[in-house]
Amino acid sequence: MSDLRELYQEVILDHNRRPRNYHAIDHPSRTARGHNPLCGDRLTLYLTLDNDRITDVGFEGSGCAISKASASLMTEAVKGKTVSEATSLFSRFHELVTTPPDLPAKTEGLGKLAVFAGVREYPARVKCASLAWHTLKNAVEAADDVAKTEDETR
Ligand code: ZN
Repeated sequence: MSDLRELYQEVILDHNRRPRNYHAIDHPSRTARGHNPLCGDRLTLYLTLDNDRITDVGFEGSGCAISKASASLMTEAVKGKTVSEATSLFSRFHELVTTPPDLPAKTEGLGKLAVFAGVREYPARVKCASLAWHTLKNAVEAADDVAKTEDETR
């Protein structure tokens, strides 16, 4: 695990220093806010949806390095994906960060997000790492409520 731990530190530092997609979006399809009171992390997420594809995503906020790095990596990971692909990525991410650290991490299909296996060493930080994903889920679920169409195939 020590390689993964080093990579984790490196990726967190990089994305905290230079967060990707760190900007508001003009006329977003959806906006959602996330707050993690345990740590004080706050973020606002902006999504542009084209049918059910996430064509653009950005965020703003303040919080600890892990919450910011996680939001940055999340936006990179879901941009261009469909809502259902993004939701399934969230399930895999959630499983990764909530698997006890003494069990092997299931990282297939997670790409760079796999480094968050390292957050399991710091249980208090799991909520920081998950905040952006929960906010994404709220954003896309709200979109469903508002923009429910006759397309029932998904
Ligand atoms: Zn935090």
